[in-house]
Amino acid sequence: MAKYKIEIDGDLCVGDGACCEEAPNTFVLDEDEVATVTDPEGDPPETILEAAKSCPTEAIIIYDAETGEKIWPE
Ligand code: SF4
Repeated sequence: MAKYKIEIDGDLCVGDGACCEEAPNTFVLDEDEVATVTDPEGDPPETILEAAKSCPTEAIIIYDAETGEKIWPE
């Protein structure tokens, strides 16, 4: 089971690709230049969290998959 549940607010995503650079096996830009999750376990959990923190608009929301607790943004 993935450690994190990942959500992306497509309305906030500005398509700069920072998350995709940080965790390329987890995030990609779709044809509309909006980030999407390809594999919630594509990169190590700490890398996924760093990718979320790299987002300039805090469009990536990370939850603990087990408890449902919101991890990021704080
Ligand atoms: S870092 Fe944020 S704004 Fe940039 S592509 Fe990823 S989700 Fe979109």
